[in-house]
Amino acid sequence: MNIQRKRKAKVDPVGSEVSDSTLPQNDDAAVRHYVVESYGCQMNVHDAERLAGLLEAAGYAPAPSTADADVVVVNTCSVRERAEEKLFTRLGELRDEARSRQRQRVVAVAGCVAQQEGENIRRRSKDVDVVIGTQAAGRLPGLLDEALTRAAEGRRRPPVIDINPYEDVSFPIGMARRQDPVKAYVTIIEGCNDFCAFCVVPYTRGHERMRPVTAILEEVAEAVGSGRREIHLLGQIVNHYQAPDDPACDFAALLERVASVPGVDRIRFASPHPRHVTARLIVALRDIPQVCKHIHLPVQSGSTRVLTAMRRRHTREEYLALVDRLRESVPDVALSTDLIVGFPGETPAEFDETLSLVERVGYHSVFSFKYSPRPNTLASKRMADDAPEHEKTRRIVALQSLQREIQRRIFDTMVGHSFEVLVDAPSRRRPHELSGRTTGNTVVNLPGHSAWVGRLTRVRVARVGPNSVWGQAVAVEQGTRHRLEPVDPVEAVTAAGESHDD
Ligand code: SF4
Repeated sequence: MNIQRKRKAKVDPVGSEVSDSTLPQNDDAAVRHYVVESYGCQMNVHDAERLAGLLEAAGYAPAPSTADADVVVVNTCSVRERAEEKLFTRLGELRDEARSRQRQRVVAVAGCVAQQEGENIRRRSKDVDVVIGTQAAGRLPGLLDEALTRAAEGRRRPPVIDINPYEDVSFPIGMARRQDPVKAYVTIIEGCNDFCAFCVVPYTRGHERMRPVTAILEEVAEAVGSGRREIHLLGQIVNHYQAPDDPACDFAALLERVASVPGVDRIRFASPHPRHVTARLIVALRDIPQVCKHIHLPVQSGSTRVLTAMRRRHTREEYLALVDRLRESVPDVALSTDLIVGFPGETPAEFDETLSLVERVGYHSVFSFKYSPRPNTLASKRMADDAPEHEKTRRIVALQSLQREIQRRIFDTMVGHSFEVLVDAPSRRRPHELSGRTTGNTVVNLPGHSAWVGRLTRVRVARVGPNSVWGQAVAVEQGTRHRLEPVDPVEAVTAAGESHDD
């Protein structure tokens, strides 16, 4: 019997039925410290929050850096190019750091690369103690316990591995260690059944599994109860949601129910699939005040022939018709998308169709990628990666340059107007400033007091930058939620100085 099956038999399933007492407890007097490193999308970041919560429930405490950690969890993402190589480079850095500090510690690899590579990690690296797949995250404390016991006995390797495809999607409410004081990620669907030709997700996250609406609403209530105002619903195809515990609850109904939880001020979701955008969802986007007027609508290519080769199940024409329907119902809706350039067989003329689609839609933002084959995918097995690297570079440069122009045009229309902004953090670049987002997801920087983080403000936009706009607050929530009281813009600058002096 291999270790994976033994662990599966011994460890209780993850779920709301798991109480803290069923999680392995650290019985050493000295508390062990952990770091979870996250490398990917919002789903990956939220997985890291969950892993951190599981570790704290098992008695670990956060360490300020990897140098101080007894346990380092590398939570990998396999969507980007060379993800596997980056993992092994990082493992080498961690090994060197541990050696230079003469510190014994345990390293776990989690996330999509762990799921995908499994035994390969054991073969390629001597620096790993635990490999844990995306569907086995709840087993992390138990596997670490095993690895720590081995380490204490001086018999460290080979690593313990669990990449079994567990069905359970439940997670103890309130256990995730949320990093953001304003926004909360809430997973509603795990996995995907679509198998787009380029995408590794169905292989790393398994088939689609829906979370019960009761658990989702309980988690939303917990998140707002702990101060979060903006809920991000997460799933690979978020708008394919159908509650397993309520046949009447599709994704549009879920939005209504989340909006009805007291304290939810904003709702965002990622990512919907164009072919599952229903009339009911468009109405929900239009009519539910808490649902942000932004939709991330991945298109991947502007050419119907390439979309067919990608197995996307929507055409250029259908996509553009959907954009028209959205704009008709919600005229101020902001759109963003994902695009791949240099997919196998994409001709220069087909790439030009992508440019014309981008121009026609006028996206607020675009996430663009050069195609690279991902392990196990249909494209990697059956299609030649035939666009030379310099041609992929030419295409992505042209695409990004067009998108910069479009974004600039959109930003220019905002100057002189004021927008409601939820302030979510201090500005990353300027210590005296804050950063927030409009309902359309535009990043707005503004001078202001650090106490404004988490408050709604009204900001008049004065100028634009390459990726954000800049303005001054004209009104801020001062005590009562949703009641914005005027502030003098000059005072706002003074307040920024005060916050710096603090
Ligand atoms: S819909 Fe396609 S691109 Fe999105 S996660 Fe599923 S397989 Fe990947």
